[in-house]
Amino acid sequence: MQVLHTVSEQPFWKRKKLTEMTREEWESLCDGCARCCLFKLEDEETGALYYTQVACRLLDFKTCRCTRYQERSKLVPDCITMSPENPEVFSWFPPTCAYRLLSEGKDLPRWHPLVSGDPASVSRAGITIGGWAIPEDEVDDVEDHIISLDTDSDLEQW
Ligand code: SF4
Ligand code: SF4
Repeated sequence: MQVLHTVSEQPFWKRKKLTEMTREEWESLCDGCARCCLFKLEDEETGALYYTQVACRLLDFKTCRCTRYQERSKLVPDCITMSPENPEVFSWFPPTCAYRLLSEGKDLPRWHPLVSGDPASVSRAGITIGGWAIPEDEVDDVEDHIISLDTDSDLEQW
């Protein structure tokens, strides 16, 4: 007798650590929200981080993708490159970010493309920033554009 299937496997993000993922699996975790391209302000006394509505000049606001991805570190030195080898930077990413969620032992939300099967679900859930972010070139003082991201509500969307 030939056994065609064994018990169904858990998806890779549930059974693998971030350090065990292939390059393709790692890249597929990015939902394309572009929230990591928003300017953040840090309170020097408390270390608290505040998000702003202002996004990096290299962002394409329609696609929510970086227009100079390969050269981003050179062109924007503050742009943090994330990899399994530098988990200390995960906390700088938004609480809805798949990399941060998995590094904190949490699951992916329903609107994540790997769960929904539809890349457009990120936008439909209101997670992408294209509709409300402001390009840095149009802003005088970033401090005037601090926003509050309701993470619990965002993770329950859709
Ligand atoms: S916040 Fe995370 S999931 Fe969203 S675009 Fe940035 S790296 Fe990708
Ligand atoms: S350089 Fe690209 S990836 Fe980095 S913050 Fe700017 S738009 Fe985002």
